Amino acid sequence: MSLTRLVLATANPDKVVEISALLPGVDLVSRPSDIPEVVEDGDTLEANALLKARAICAATGSPAVADDTGLEVMALGGAPGVWSARFAGENATYGDNVAKLIADLEGESDRTARFRTVAAIVTPDGEEIVVDGVTWGTIAIEPVGSGGFGYDPVFIPDDGDGRVYAQMTLDEKNALSQRGRAFRALAKTLAL
Ligand code: IMP
Repeated sequence: MSLTRLVLATANPDKVVEISALLPGVDLVSRPSDIPEVVEDGDTLEANALLKARAICAATGSPAVADDTGLEVMALGGAPGVWSARFAGENATYGDNVAKLIADLEGESDRTARFRTVAAIVTPDGEEIVVDGVTWGTIAIEPVGSGGFGYDPVFIPDDGDGRVYAQMTLDEKNALSQRGRAFRALAKTLAL
């Protein structure tokens, strides 16, 4: 597939920064402000990514790209998973979610977790590409660092040097993150 212009389903500025760095050959267009945020009511990351990409493609008439990410913590049976944004409640902040995660893991020796991102492209002629990226790691005892967003202050990727995502530069995080892996796979399918 050859695409040089994609409308981004997300309006989350934290994700836009990372995705822009991962698709350098693509003209990424922000979701037009008159198109409302798509309700993410799918049961899986795949369902939500496709829901968002299909809705933005249908609303704009242009190829669209969307991603959905979940943090799966083994000692919590895979939670928060697809509910990562709302782990501590409907209007939870990043800080609320991190605080709940730390509290739920108190005294737990198995702090193994993985981040998974599903990225989807949908085109007006009905083509759909879905890829994913996974990064395994450990949940830190307490939040550290000031970069990134979401659960970055507590996620220590296995492939790193012991620092959490929030202590890394954008390029360092993208090199080993779930989103980096998913979008590099997308870039490959776009022959970038
Ligand atoms: P989303 O549905 O893809 O926006 O992701 C759901 C939630 O997962 C977000 O609200 C963040 O809290 C968290 N999240 C997504 N990606 C990352 C990441 O790269 N680092 C840390 N947290 C993330």
